[in-house]
Amino acid sequence: MWASSRYAIAHDKGSSHGGSRIFRRTMFEGEHYNPIVARAEELWRKLEKEAGTRLLQPSGGLCIGPRDGELIVDALRCAEAGGVEHELLEPDQLAARFPQHAHIPGDVGVYEPGAGVLNPEAAITAAFGLATAAGAQLRTASGVTAIHPEETGVRIETADEVVTARSAIVATGAWFTDLLPDLPLRIQRSSLMWFTGADRATYRPDRFPVFIRESGPVDGWGIPDVDGRGVKLGAGPSAPKPWIDHPRDNDHPVDEKDVEPVAGFCRAAFPGLTPTPVDARACMNSKTPDGDFVLGSPEAAPRLVLAGGFSGHGFKHASAVGEIVADLALAGGSSIPLERFSPDRFRS
Ligand SMILES: Cc1cc2nc3c(=O)[nH]c(=O)nc-3n(C[C@H](O)[C@H](O)[C@H](O)COP(=O)(O)OP(=O)(O)OC[C@H]3O[C@@H](n4cnc5c(N)ncnc54)[C@H](O)[C@@H]3O)c2cc1C
Repeated sequence: MWASSRYAIAHDKGSSHGGSRIFRRTMFEGEHYNPIVARAEELWRKLEKEAGTRLLQPSGGLCIGPRDGELIVDALRCAEAGGVEHELLEPDQLAARFPQHAHIPGDVGVYEPGAGVLNPEAAITAAFGLATAAGAQLRTASGVTAIHPEETGVRIETADEVVTARSAIVATGAWFTDLLPDLPLRIQRSSLMWFTGADRATYRPDRFPVFIRESGPVDGWGIPDVDGRGVKLGAGPSAPKPWIDHPRDNDHPVDEKDVEPVAGFCRAAFPGLTPTPVDARACMNSKTPDGDFVLGSPEAAPRLVLAGGFSGHGFKHASAVGEIVADLALAGGSSIPLERFSPDRFRS
């Protein structure tokens, strides 16, 4: 295997930095994610074992919102369909077990005991470490400048070499359309922010699950304090987040416009936290028009395997996505149903 990355491994210029990502198997995004996330969990455990490092820290997970709201209805349906262990918490149970969250009358919780926090930089480093040990050739000095699908293979160009291969996997995140401009992917700036409060111990993973909340205008997500930096919070889909033309336009620090919606969420959702971030980092997501991933080969270029458009919810699946794209590239198929992720679905 030959691999190229534009920057050093586990860098902070793309979408996979900041020390933590939610891992949950409650796939309110849709049941078509159930087989991917189930396999992802097995592969994260395998990677932990083989690399000898902890990647997934248990914390449990919560979806919070009104009983008849989309989040709760979809979370229950998909958890049941996927055979995911979960528990419906009535409003008084939610308030008693997780008093850190602001009480909003009528809100229930779907609690998933097996959810937790993935460390993205550690996961990427572990995966590249094993790949390199197995003989993969990794280039980090220069990115790919062009990919040309040909009849019997693919020609890949960087600034200083030309490589030919039987097939190529393209997983270039927010840079996707640099190499494949035909896909309707858009880039949204979305920042990472950490908050603290008086009783910091109540926000550690043993007492504070990862969560998604959609309680009308109080909508956002959060990750417990896994590393002493504080609770990581983000604003949900109702918050204004700027669209950018290219990743290079994201290369500026977090500013007041980024902070305000997240600080507002913190103020409304956590009476015990100070709504001023103690730390913040810019990040971004590559988004598809329907929010589903792009996973597979376009009919017009069967030698290319595309893995992109992760639309803000991709990291938890990354171990399985790696296996899927390897199977597609080497064997031409995957045991996981991929119809919903076809790159050709955007063609009219
Ligand atoms: C604020 C925020 C919070 C999130 N929270 C969660 C969460 O809790 N749980 C979850 O599951 N997901 C979450 N996500 C989404 C998840 O982080 C992303 O879906 C995932 O990390 C995307 O990975 P990627 O590999 O597509 O992109 P990236 O990690 O950006 O990787 C793309 C790589 O391609 C390389 N590259 C680009 N162009 C070239 C080129 N021409 N040649 C060679 N290499 C190139 C880049 O250097 C980069 O390393 C979140 C995202 C954000 C922004």
